[in-house]
Amino acid sequence: MTSHAATLRATYKTGRTRPLAWRRNQLEQMIKMLEENEADLLAALRTDLGKPTVEGFITDIAFVTGEIKQMLKNLKKWNKPQRVPSPIVTMPAKSTLMPEPLGVVLVIAPWNYPIQLLLVPAAGAIAAGNTVVMKPSEVSAATSAVLARLVPKYMDTSAVVLVEGGVPETTDLLSQHFDHIFYTGNGTVGRIVMAAAANNLTPVTLELGGKSPVIIDGSANIKVAARRIAWGKWLNAGQTCVAPDYILVNEKVRQPFIDELGKAITDFYGANPETSESYGRVVSPRHFDRLKGMLGSGTNIIGGETNAETRYIAPTVLADVDMTSPLMNEEIFGPLLPIISVSSTQQAIDHINARPHPLALYVFAENKAVVSDVLAHTTAGGVTVNGTLMHLTNPHLPFGGIGESGMGGYHGKSGVRLFQHMKPVLSRGTKLDPSLAYPPYTDRKAKIFRKVL
Ligand code: NAD
Repeated sequence: MTSHAATLRATYKTGRTRPLAWRRNQLEQMIKMLEENEADLLAALRTDLGKPTVEGFITDIAFVTGEIKQMLKNLKKWNKPQRVPSPIVTMPAKSTLMPEPLGVVLVIAPWNYPIQLLLVPAAGAIAAGNTVVMKPSEVSAATSAVLARLVPKYMDTSAVVLVEGGVPETTDLLSQHFDHIFYTGNGTVGRIVMAAAANNLTPVTLELGGKSPVIIDGSANIKVAARRIAWGKWLNAGQTCVAPDYILVNEKVRQPFIDELGKAITDFYGANPETSESYGRVVSPRHFDRLKGMLGSGTNIIGGETNAETRYIAPTVLADVDMTSPLMNEEIFGPLLPIISVSSTQQAIDHINARPHPLALYVFAENKAVVSDVLAHTTAGGVTVNGTLMHLTNPHLPFGGIGESGMGGYHGKSGVRLFQHMKPVLSRGTKLDPSLAYPPYTDRKAKIFRKVL
């Protein structure tokens, strides 16, 4: 098979991707590609995920163009050497951190936000001056096909390529020498990626998943909590890496919360969400069967309806869940929401700390001391207080996981820094060359060293 890495390395070595003008042009082309082909892209998202058009526009088009516009605005600034102080022993000297591209970057994306999760990291790599291979997910086949048609039309094919395919094609790519691999997906494949990267000492960013919990304290604004949780959970039919996975609710507010959640579902998707234009579908029969299998692990208190033909699963809330079942031990990644009662926030904290660090954690509380307590005693990739998902929309907050939920963060400036080596450079002047630092080490010099160091 072709070594895309070798081809792109040859381009990289010519210096083609270094000028800011080239990077600017490629970023502008990427925006143009999205804007001119919005209808085809949204239609593909609908085929793959039944993605409502507005949802597709917000999460897979506008989010990407917003990130790229920020890169364009800051391109010069983020690629400029940064002056840092120099300690006295180095004098006369000037110290800088000089951003340089890494070389050839591989981006491997999953199927749930198939445009965003491919193009945002790729744009960051381009803004930093790298060449890029993009590998979309074969599971979102319609979106992959549209992108495969568009990328060569809009992008500089000597430096930015898209390779379609599944496991064999990705395995082949992973055998090639890249300078950075950016992988989004599940932790099992994350381990395969990291092991392959080790052969070339290639650094990796792993954007993984896991079970993101929600704590609802007794002091929470229940109506707002229910609406924000319903939005974050059933966006993309629950197939969001930071979707609320399960709820730990204070038993005193359990019933009011369930009532408000039911109301929010009806408000958002009507009495029958299957007919709602605002509700998506499960991506594949395999995932449909997996999720359907989880339905038996608790009592359906809301929803539970399914339709295999259209891969529809209703927004579903489960109580009395079997804590040993896959529902409570694997990432759900679909529209099922288990609710567990706790008698105190401490019990919720203990539950979370007995499990791997989640990608996201949500806490709903009006009592500020409760929020501080949760923040101080839990670890997560990111947190939204009194909300869901929103921390990932702020480009000033690096987005990523910790431990089982991943390593490294991106978005905004951090999404460009990730693909740069901030090369430390210390430049010394030659007008002064005090003999102090040189041998022979006399007693007088020793005394001075003891004073200044
Ligand atoms: P997926 O099945 O599309 O796989 C992701 C990528 O890995 C694809 O490009 C696929 O071709 C490749 N792949 C699959 N098996 C492989 C193998 N054996 N060797 C090499 N490459 C292989 O997507 P998925 O993993 O089902 O995605 C869902 C997971 O991703 C969830 O855990 C979710 O939480 C996580 N996720 C994380 C983020 C984030 O930003 N942290 C975002 C979205 C999804």
